[in-house]
Amino acid sequence: MLSVRLASDLQRDSIVDGPGLRMVLWTQGCPHHCPNCHNPQTHDPNGGVSVDVTRIIEEMKQIRLQSGLTLSGGEPFDQSAALIPIAVFAKEEMKLNVWAYSGYTFEELLCDKEKKALLEHIDVLVDGRFIEAQKDYRLRFKGSKNQRIIDVQQSLAKQQVILSAYDEVNQHLDE
Ligand code: SF4
Repeated sequence: MLSVRLASDLQRDSIVDGPGLRMVLWTQGCPHHCPNCHNPQTHDPNGGVSVDVTRIIEEMKQIRLQSGLTLSGGEPFDQSAALIPIAVFAKEEMKLNVWAYSGYTFEELLCDKEKKALLEHIDVLVDGRFIEAQKDYRLRFKGSKNQRIIDVQQSLAKQQVILSAYDEVNQHLDE
């Protein structure tokens, strides 16, 4: 049976992890160790709790009035195989948009078959490690300027990174 290691329960009603009201899955385990990470408790791959994917999907079915699902962490792409059926269910059955936060860059994710397979079910990716020197509290939906909010489906189709309209406001903060 497929399971995913989570840092906490499935969150609902988040307004900071993408647009609208969102469910958030906080995955446990992160290899990036960005200095001053805001979620250091999620780094240990043996921490948190292991939860059956079917149980998470059953929980999602009970949650109403959400516009999206966000995969965060931790590093969600290190648990790609388990997260694929969750992302597929959210998109196909619940008609939600699916965002993912990753310390890997879009290009790094493309180099790994399993990670790329999850990426193919994501609408928007916020990519790259958190860099303290590039932190800016004014940034929307991301922590540091190096990170990109990427329209994944367009980027895969055109084989180059296409930024999401959600990153537009972040490009003009200093004007
Ligand atoms: S990728 Fe995210 S969770 Fe992982 S160390 Fe960096 S900021 Fe923290």
